[in-house]
Amino acid sequence: MGPNAYLCTLSEVQTPWIPYSKPYRAPHEMEYLEQVLSSGRTHGDGPFTKRASQLMEDLTSADSVLLTGSGTHALELASWLLELAPGDEVIVPSFTFSTTAASVVMTGATPVFVDIDPATGSLDIEAAEAAITGRTWAVYVVHYGGVAPDMDRLTGLAERAGIQIVEDNAHGLGARWGGRPCGSFGTLAAQSFHATKNIQCGEGGALLINDPSLRARAEVLREKGTDRSKFLRGEVDKYSWIDRGSSYLPSELTVAVLTAQLEAFDTIQEQRHAIWNTYAESLVPWAAQTGAALMSPPEKVDHPAHVFYFLAPDAGYRTTMLDHLHAAGVGATFHYIPLHSSIAGKRFGRTPNPCPATDEFAARIVRLPLWPGMTDAETDRVITRVHEFAPAMV
Ligand SMILES: *Cc1c(COP(=O)(O)O)cnc(C)c1O
Repeated sequence: MGPNAYLCTLSEVQTPWIPYSKPYRAPHEMEYLEQVLSSGRTHGDGPFTKRASQLMEDLTSADSVLLTGSGTHALELASWLLELAPGDEVIVPSFTFSTTAASVVMTGATPVFVDIDPATGSLDIEAAEAAITGRTWAVYVVHYGGVAPDMDRLTGLAERAGIQIVEDNAHGLGARWGGRPCGSFGTLAAQSFHATKNIQCGEGGALLINDPSLRARAEVLREKGTDRSKFLRGEVDKYSWIDRGSSYLPSELTVAVLTAQLEAFDTIQEQRHAIWNTYAESLVPWAAQTGAALMSPPEKVDHPAHVFYFLAPDAGYRTTMLDHLHAAGVGATFHYIPLHSSIAGKRFGRTPNPCPATDEFAARIVRLPLWPGMTDAETDRVITRVHEFAPAMV
């Protein structure tokens, strides 16, 4: 036994940590970064931005795409573009990330929280319909795990009510509903390239624009309120401050990595789907035995293998199960704390009806590690650790 053996306890040998997610290393990342650095042109809207935007348009069938510094920035742009103002209401599922709602609050408008459908984890369309008032301006639909709700029904509802749809498609790059890409249904849609998303560049995002009449203003809001984008295309001979705006564009350094990632999209997705399918198949008997409900997207959905989750039989079971998995080296997680019961959600939002499905979903969900490059041995170990969890009494 060498001296270093004493630095490593037995339990560490048995339980190396399997993280919940791990950013994929795409081929060409370093090469593209080097190209940007040695070109001496590192600021936004350069050649890589052009290339990555085109790749995004191809992937999503969006009418046009503007890259942003984050998914949150894309949501903020969407809220400004819809000209939300104090008094306006936007329907938002309670089960989502904070910035779906914060991007509404930023404009002075009010997020109205509604329940989710436990079959999808996404918006319950009946709950959305029940929350529509004369002040409702839009619905921000979140495709949880890339699983969209019935988009025919939602589109029909929005048309009847005269409201806009914005898709928070942070989870759903490559996802489809009824064969049509998520991100192509709404007037606008937001993508995220945060480190935890399927395609990542640390921090990054994109605004998908499906109403071409909004494109020109989107460019201005994104470029510090100036018409610099027009100037760069030679459409005006000088640029100046013409509207509200901020700096919402990513550096070419960031987009160099993003481009390499987007070019590896098929490889990334293939690996994620293989792991997702292994979980979905291997855990069926266990789920039947324990009463857990495995994630099972409806038929019209092509999900992007962003998350694999199950709902534990109850909240107590979930908590002890997560403790067990963590102790066994499995980085399983849960989220979100429902927005309708969050501090800011209560302060800035309105919740016209209870959200029991959201409360229950949030209390029972367990998400298993899932990232491209995860080995079969690691996937098997996660499954074994789930199987061996036998709570004394629940
Ligand atoms: C990740 C995420 C966001 C925010 O994206 P950022 O790029 O981190 O700003 C918004 N909504 C949902 C549903 C997300 O998962």
